[in-house]
Amino acid sequence: MLDCAIIGGGPAGLTAGLYATRGGLENVTLFEMGMPGGQITKSSEIENYPGFFDSSKTGLEFMDTWQKQCFHFGLKHVMKKVELIVKTGEHFTITLEGGEMVEALSVIVATGSVPKRAGFNGEDEFFGKGVSTCATCDGFFYKNKPVTVLGGGDTALEEALFLSNICSDVYVVHRREKFKAAPPTLERVAKKENIHLMTDSVIDEAYGGMMGLDGVKIKNTKTNEVTEMKNTGLFVFVGLNIRNDVLKDENGKFICAMSDSGQVIVDLRMRTDVAGLFVAGDLRIDAPKQVVSAAADGSIAALEVMTYLQELE
Ligand code: FAD
Ligand code: NAP
Repeated sequence: MLDCAIIGGGPAGLTAGLYATRGGLENVTLFEMGMPGGQITKSSEIENYPGFFDSSKTGLEFMDTWQKQCFHFGLKHVMKKVELIVKTGEHFTITLEGGEMVEALSVIVATGSVPKRAGFNGEDEFFGKGVSTCATCDGFFYKNKPVTVLGGGDTALEEALFLSNICSDVYVVHRREKFKAAPPTLERVAKKENIHLMTDSVIDEAYGGMMGLDGVKIKNTKTNEVTEMKNTGLFVFVGLNIRNDVLKDENGKFICAMSDSGQVIVDLRMRTDVAGLFVAGDLRIDAPKQVVSAAADGSIAALEVMTYLQELE
């Protein structure tokens, strides 16, 4: 029986693991279906994490020391997807991909979020073949070539800045006139001569053939004018889907209270309405969706697990 099962190895899950093990819990396992690190490993830079001020480092490099630090104190990692969590009496039964079952006295769920698809023609067909959601991973394929970025939030504009250092030109397509991204990011974008903002515009179509994407058609929704971009890569950054499936029971019903937008309702101690079940990071209600806040949530959840286990004894 585990003292604590942590599900998801992003900033929230890793920090929960660090606090739980360093706080004296000996039997703590992190279930992370991929390599630990979370969605920030897809980012080309991070400059708002206090104490870390090196914009030449990618999100992947930034998270590298997190793992080392967490595993140093005894956190175990099982690289498996968690499918189901069931509470019976005072303990939880966790079903892993493949059917294996693990029991735990407490659970911290920190499964975060995943990039959304925008829904234009050709997006699914050319996904991974010219349509991407990761500039750090795929930007280099377009060295000295033009690329198109879809979206108007922090991610789209930060990734456009990254791409502008590799690619000849970056065309940012945004459906409205005003951008959602933070003002300092917009100021940096404005200084880049090879970033071109195409507002009030949508991707009409991404087209290509057997070899992948050949180009995109961009439509201005005010004038209906269509601009064709040939030989471009297309990077889609239109927000995130909350990964809450793990909290559904066999009938698809959530096992704890959820908000209308699919985030878990927790109190300031990261407690859900199920005793022993805690949620941290982007998955929780009102999450600011920042590394620093996800990490803070993880630490709170782990401290609360320790209190909970003491009370159980
Ligand atoms: P995540 O990082 O999403 O981690 C969740 C983990 O859970 C994933 O590793 C996933 O594989 C795993 N998982 C999911 N389901 C299961 C399952 N069923 N079983 C096992 N494992 C599972 N924030 C900043 O503060 N500064 C930035 O500069 C910044 N830049 C960003 C750039 C990009 C491109 C993106 C996408 C995000 C950025 N963010 C930034 C936001 C930040 O990355 C997130 O707020 C943060 O990673 C959330 O952490 P988390 O631990 O809650 O979830
Ligand atoms: P976001 O803030 O939700 O922005 C998504 C953008 O995509 C919006 O501009 C939205 O347009 C547009 N969009 C949504 N659906 C679309 C569609 N179907 N077609 C075309 N455009 C569409 O998402 P994000 O930029 O990924 O950021 C997610 C969270 O992470 C945010 O809370 C953000 O602040 C945070 N984050 C922070 C940093 C940082 O602090 N440095 C970096 C990255 C991300 P509208 O504007 O019209 O809605």
